[in-house]
Parts: sequence; structure tokens; C-alpha cells
Amino acid sequence: MPLSVAALGVDWYAGNCHKWLMAPKGCAFLWTAPQRRAETHAHILSHGLGEGYLAEFDWTGTRDPGAFLAVTAAIDFLEALGGPALMARNRALALEAGAMLAARLGTEVAAQPAMAGSMAAIRLPCPDRRRGRRPSRCGRGCWRRGRMRRSQPSMAASGCASRPPPTTRRRITRAWPRCSPPRCDLTRAGPRAEAAVMDLPISGWHAHVYYDPATTRAAAAALREGIAAGFPDAVLGRWHDVPVGPHTAAMYQVAFAPKLFPSLVPWMSLHRGALSVLLHPETGRQRADHTSHALWMGAPLPLKAEILPE
Ligand code: ZN
Repeated sequence: MPLSVAALGVDWYAGNCHKWLMAPKGCAFLWTAPQRRAETHAHILSHGLGEGYLAEFDWTGTRDPGAFLAVTAAIDFLEALGGPALMARNRALALEAGAMLAARLGTEVAAQPAMAGSMAAIRLPCPDRRRGRRPSRCGRGCWRRGRMRRSQPSMAASGCASRPPPTTRRRITRAWPRCSPPRCDLTRAGPRAEAAVMDLPISGWHAHVYYDPATTRAAAAALREGIAAGFPDAVLGRWHDVPVGPHTAAMYQVAFAPKLFPSLVPWMSLHRGALSVLLHPETGRQRADHTSHALWMGAPLPLKAEILPE
């Protein structure tokens, strides 16, 4: 979000760089109003004590300052990508996707657009288990399998607390030692959400795997063998060493049913290496399926979409 610390009129402002600048966690900033700098000290005192605000924070021990030193370059890079225009575009995409998902799932977004930045939170149709409230079928199922846990501050902070909170302790004792991360995905979110997804007008999916016959054919062959071995229901198309149809590079096609998407697509994302893959649904609108409906893994390639029927 656009930020003007001066306009806020605060004494201190702290923020981090790990979200939008992709910095490692711990790479953060602290702004201190001039009148507060004399009384503001680093929590680890090393060199520079008594030599002023900046000197005191300059070197707080033997740690790698590489991430801090790279921040200005990261900010320049973000600006080069579009700066405020990029921020506005990201926000618009997040709001659009949030509204679309909420409509499909029959739930709602967590905050009105005026209160949202480049992120949207959507309520999943998977109710919390609250004291005195009978859990739904979904909630009971998730709870039994130990795969969904109520969000607790202690869990959020550590990822895996040593003991469950008292109100839920008895119920999840059996699952707790596994310490698997909280999970509530669509396939476990009950028949309503599943139906909402399966109700999409998508009869199947294509993954077009692009390669260079001179340099990356072997990598494409290895990926193809992995798909054949792990996903026998996927239909492998012919090798096309020369561009065909709307495609501008050599490729082969993998056709698969929507039910394979949750397993095949993640598998490909981990095994495609440097190959570019175009994923597109089949909705009967060929041009849109290859453009606005499409997903890319790796570098997108040009497509001759104009030759496809609308
Ligand atoms: Zn296709």
C-alpha cells in the first residue's frame, strides 16, 4: 500500500521487506522520528554506542548484512517493473480473484475492497469447531484426520506448538505429535465447495510442454516418462519438433481430466525443470482457453492465438 510515514505523525514505524521485496525474513526497517532518536537503542549493543542513532544500529553483531545491503537494489527493481502502476495492477488482480473465488465457493471476502491491499482473504466453506457449536460433516472429518486445526496464536508463531490449547487438547491429542501444517484444501472442504469447483465448465485440461529439439528434448522426454509412469490416465500427444497450430515452438501435449489437476499440475511444477509449460482448460472457447484462461509454468512463449476460433 502507498505509505507516508510523515503523514502518519508517528514516533516509530517498523516494517519488513520479506513480502514484496522477497527479502529473507528479518530484513526489515525501523523509522524513528528525529526527536525520538536519542532514546532509541539497538537491542544488541555492539560498536557505535553513544555515537548516534545510525552508528548504534550500523553493526549489531556478526551477522550477514547482505540482505539489508540489497534492499535499495530491490526497491529500484520494483520501481523498474512499474512501481505504483504495478502495485495498482496487483491489487486489482487480487480483488478480482478474491471476489471470483468467494462467488464460486458461496462464501465472502474478509474485507471490503477499500480496506484491502494487494491481497485478498476469503472464507473457506470449512467451519471452525467452536465450543458449543456442532461441527459440520466437513469439520468433523477434518478434525478426525488431524489435518485442520483452529488457528491459534501459539501455532501461528511457532508453526508447531509443544502442546495444544486447553479447550481443544483432548480432541486432538492423537494427531498432535504429527505436527503437520494446518490444512484445509478444497478437496477436503466438503461437498459444497467441491461441487462448486467441479461445476466449472471445464471438460479437461491440456499441458503443452515446450522444448528445443537441439538442447532440451532429453529434459522433455524425462518429464514425459515421469507423467506416463505416475499418471497413466493422462493422454500423451505426439512429439511436434516443428511448431504446429498456435504454438511457436516445438512441443507435445498432455491431455488430462479435471480430477487429475490437483496431483498432476503440482507434480509438473516440481519436475518441469527449465521447460516452459502452457496449461489451459477446455471450455469450448479455444482462443480464451489459450490466452485469458491459460496458466504458464516457466517463461511464457508467444502464441498465434489469432488463428484460433473465438
Ligand atoms: Zn491445447
